[in-house]
Amino acid sequence: MTGLIGTANASDAMCRRQVAAAARTISRYGHEDLTLGHVSVRSATGDSMWIKRKGVALSEVTVDDVIAADLGDEPPRGDLMHYEAIMHHEAYRRRGDINAVIHTHPWYATAFGASDAEFQMLSHDGVLFKDGIGRYSDSSGLITTGPDAERVVNALGSKRVTMLRHHGVLIVGEDIRWAVLAAITLERSIRLQWMASGLGEINPIAPGDVEDLYLEKYRERFLAEYWDAWLRDLEATGFTS
Ligand SMILES: [Zn+2]
Repeated sequence: MTGLIGTANASDAMCRRQVAAAARTISRYGHEDLTLGHVSVRSATGDSMWIKRKGVALSEVTVDDVIAADLGDEPPRGDLMHYEAIMHHEAYRRRGDINAVIHTHPWYATAFGASDAEFQMLSHDGVLFKDGIGRYSDSSGLITTGPDAERVVNALGSKRVTMLRHHGVLIVGEDIRWAVLAAITLERSIRLQWMASGLGEINPIAPGDVEDLYLEKYRERFLAEYWDAWLRDLEATGFTS
């Protein structure tokens, strides 16, 4: 599995393996919720996406559970398509800079999204979200229509993540590795904020230190190392895709 690099311009077979590996990885970091939640990557040709199908848990996704959807004007539909796949569709169409999308219902981030707490950078984890966190609060329901998906992607703006109030999160990445890193790191940073808030007055990282810390901590070349470590973790569970 080493060498399964999660970059853009991957073959269709590699895209499907990326989605399966990413789904299983984030399931181990607080993102599992029944058979809900989905991961996708943009295909190498750019005109379609590969997305986890409806009906299986993130922790059990195989390459056979990853299906294609067109990124044309028609929203993704079909018996195997998640009802909320339209968020991925809209995000790829509006954000040419992203090649991976995750929608899940993680505990800490969803609790945060239901509060009026402000996101604080209290550790290196928080710095990944230096550009802020979007807030979609127009409704508490499922996102299944074009207009709702548009509003969610408006809330996302140019950020890595937006909260969906009372629901979950939408996370995007330059490629699958960055999206998985954001998914794991978002839960960690909000959990840490919750813990720190109960200990006393919080002291966020000084704003003047954030940019340098980001450049030092979140280097492109580190991502291959993280991705390979996640794959080794999956191999230990018997996952071979
Ligand atoms: Zn959802």
